[in-house]
Amino acid sequence: MQWGTLKARILAYGTVRLTGIYPFHPGQSTAGPGAGSTGSVFFATSHGRIRLAIDDHSLLKLTADADGSARLTGPDIDVEGHIEDAGYHCPRQAFITLSEGCIFSCRYCAVPSLPKHIKSVEEVTGMIEQVASDIDAISLTSGVIGSVEEDELRAIAVVDAVAGFGIPVGVSIYPIPGTPQRLKDAGACEVKFNIETATEALFQNMCPGLDYEGTWTILEDSVSVFGRNRVFSNVILGLGETYTEMEACIHRLTEIGVIPVIRPLSPSPNLPGLPRPTAEDILRITKFAREELKKAGLDPTQAQTMCTLCGGCDLVAGRDV
Ligand code: SF4
Repeated sequence: MQWGTLKARILAYGTVRLTGIYPFHPGQSTAGPGAGSTGSVFFATSHGRIRLAIDDHSLLKLTADADGSARLTGPDIDVEGHIEDAGYHCPRQAFITLSEGCIFSCRYCAVPSLPKHIKSVEEVTGMIEQVASDIDAISLTSGVIGSVEEDELRAIAVVDAVAGFGIPVGVSIYPIPGTPQRLKDAGACEVKFNIETATEALFQNMCPGLDYEGTWTILEDSVSVFGRNRVFSNVILGLGETYTEMEACIHRLTEIGVIPVIRPLSPSPNLPGLPRPTAEDILRITKFAREELKKAGLDPTQAQTMCTLCGGCDLVAGRDV
C-alpha cells in the first residue's frame, strides 16, 4: 500500500492504544488537535510521521519495544516503524504555546477551557535553551488572553528574543492588520494564519467574533512580506463543508501563494454529528491540493517550521502524496 493511502487510513482513526514495554511519555499539548486531552504519541516510518491521540478503546494498537521500535496494527493496517519523542509538543521542534487560554470560543477548540497561563520571554528562552541542540525549528503559537493587540505585543517580544538562537522561527497567532510585517521585523521567517473553515458561513458559526475576510486580506499581505512557500493556513476538513466548497477554499489559498494545511477534524462533544473524516475524504482532497500547489508553483517541502515541517496531524500535500 502506498504511504499516502496508509497514512490517510491511520489519520481517519486518529487514535491509538499503547502496549509493549516502551516507557511511553505521552505528550500533553496546549495546541493542535487534542489540546488538553490525555496525550498523544508520534509514530514514524521512513516515509514520515503521524501523531495519534491515546485512547484505550481505539481500534489501532501500537506495540513498542524498549528500543522504540514499534508496530502499528488495526483493521487493514500493519506497519513497522518507531516511536519518536517530542520535546516541546512535536519532534525536532520547540513548538511553544505562548498564551494558554483564549478570549474567543471557537467550537472545535479546547484551548479556551485550559487553565490560563502566559509564558514570559524568560520562560520561553529558558525552554529553548534546554533543547536548542536537538531542534530544527522554533514554532510559536498562542491563544488570545487580554486582547489581540496585547497578545501580538507579547509574541513579538518573544520572537525578538529567540531569533538570536539562529534557528528558523515560525509564528501562528491571530493576526490584525500589520501583523505580518511586525513579525518579520522581529525575526520570524514563516507565518501560519488560520482560515479554519472552507466558507464564511461556517466560520461565523464556528468562530464567533473572529474576522474571516480580514484574515484572507492578511494572508495576501503575508505573502508580500514573507514570500511564497513561507505562508501557511490551517483549514479544517469535516466541519460540514461540501467537497466543492473545500476545493474552492484550497484553490483560493494557493492562488494567493498560501500553502494549505488540511487538518482532519478531531470530533468533540461541542460538535455533535460531525465525525472524523474518512480516509477516502482525506486522500481525495489532499490529492486535489497537491495539484493546486503544483499549478501555483508552491512547494511544501520547503517548510522550515510549524505543521507543514512536522506533518504529524495531516496528510501533507506534495510530501505524503
Ligand atoms: S502537525 Fe502541527 S499540530 Fe500536529 S503535532 Fe505537528 S506541529 Fe503539532
